[in-house]
Amino acid sequence: MQTAEIRRRFLQHFEQRGHTVVPSASLVSPDPSLLFTVAGMVPFIPYLTGREPAPFPRATSVQKCVRTLDIEEVGKTTRHGTFFQMNGNFSFGDYFKDGAVQHAWELVTGAVADGGLGFDPDRIWVTVYLDDDEAADAWHRIAGLPKDRIQRLGKKDNYWHTGADGPGGPCSEIYFDRGPEFGPDGGPLVDTAGDRFLEIWNLVFMQYELTDVRSKEDFRVVGELPKKNIDTGMGLERVAYLLQGVDNMYEIDEVAPVLRRGAELAGVTYGKDHEADVRLRVVADHVRSGLMLIGDGVTPGNEGRGYILRRLLRRAVRSMRLLGVDTATLPELLPVSRDAMSASYPELATDFDRIAAVAYAEEEAFRRTLSSGTALFDTAVREAKAAGTPALSGEQAFSLHDTYGFPIDVTLEMAAEQGVTVDEAGFRALMQQQRDRARADARAKRTGSVDVLAYRRLLAEHGPTDWRAYDTLRTDSR
Ligand code: ATP
Ligand code: MG
Ligand code: MG
Ligand code: MG
Repeated sequence: MQTAEIRRRFLQHFEQRGHTVVPSASLVSPDPSLLFTVAGMVPFIPYLTGREPAPFPRATSVQKCVRTLDIEEVGKTTRHGTFFQMNGNFSFGDYFKDGAVQHAWELVTGAVADGGLGFDPDRIWVTVYLDDDEAADAWHRIAGLPKDRIQRLGKKDNYWHTGADGPGGPCSEIYFDRGPEFGPDGGPLVDTAGDRFLEIWNLVFMQYELTDVRSKEDFRVVGELPKKNIDTGMGLERVAYLLQGVDNMYEIDEVAPVLRRGAELAGVTYGKDHEADVRLRVVADHVRSGLMLIGDGVTPGNEGRGYILRRLLRRAVRSMRLLGVDTATLPELLPVSRDAMSASYPELATDFDRIAAVAYAEEEAFRRTLSSGTALFDTAVREAKAAGTPALSGEQAFSLHDTYGFPIDVTLEMAAEQGVTVDEAGFRALMQQQRDRARADARAKRTGSVDVLAYRRLLAEHGPTDWRAYDTLRTDSR
């Protein structure tokens, strides 16, 4: 079943059950406390917290999400993307646990001919919070799940709150058993790697008012909320990978074409070498995230969202380099991602010229950075190894950053590949000193403030300066 079809069925299922279909919000989080939209509930925060009255009692959406927290997992697990889509249904003081369980069960196990997803009910497991007997009872009574496939987990996995005083409550998660070839028996309680029992859907029951919230697991329940809410999130890519009979979310219809094109460019066969496979999956994931982020108006930069985007694009380019491709790669890969995604997001096609210009310029800038900084990096590594202390100093990392624009994570990654460590604390201290100096300068110059608009105008008229001096005038090899 194609990803676009799963998305359509999800929305239809909940629309038929009285939910208002709400289009995805931007990846640039509508909630000012977050850089990116990290879950389907983010656009609904004002209604879930009761800050604003909900304009509808029930809603459903397929929300574009970015989770940079998962970047290290990408390509290594089967299930983590930096970009992914979260299908959700929401009840604002309307139905509660019974309704949430029933709606979810009907969709997951409903026959394909009737609009369902057709999962085998015998391979579904769920978890509930330790003392949440109501939820356990609902799964048994409504879904007919045997009690040994309803497991109990603690706050770390099965409790939700915003991280601050306010609403919170237990959650219940739905898992699909991929089979004994992916791990031992025993359900999600045992399979902490999550390879065999794949988490597909989280149902959050917002039911309590919390106070003294100090951490994920340290808080106090003061009482029941006057209006209880439901917030759910189902991973569209995870469901797609199961229903498409592939091994992971990077092999689904919306992602695999980029992976295949990357393999073709690198002249490697996907599935033969673990390390190369991970790199190809990283490429496929990051190219798509870059496409979606630029599509939502993010541009590469040195901080905040722009920095994350820059990191994703550069990591994709570097992964292709490590696969042996030295030529520009985004012009080959980005259009493939656009073609795979534009059935669900037609604006990617109409806006592609702008998106491509931003992405290709970033790759060019990075290629220049790499070609000028790599020599310095190699020398530093050689020196460190020769000195018998396989560590780059904070000064060396700082100089790479300051002079050659090497982001610290590129230095860290390249160092790790060479079996060399980096004095990151030393690097950070030098960065801080630089910031302090800049601040002091700014204070001193407060009276003669610079009009940055003038520079912006120049940039708009003439484009960025191609600064060649480091390539052409460099006299020493440090
Ligand atoms: P996991 O334990 O696998 O990291 P999670 O518990 O962090 O997932 P939730 O915060 O519960 O995920 O998000 C709801 C749903 O969104 C998950 O059940 C999953 O299907 C999907 N999801 C979460 N993170 C990702 C990701 N990085 N890539 C793809 N899908 C994801
Ligand atoms: Mg997670
Ligand atoms: Mg989880
Ligand atoms: Mg979860």
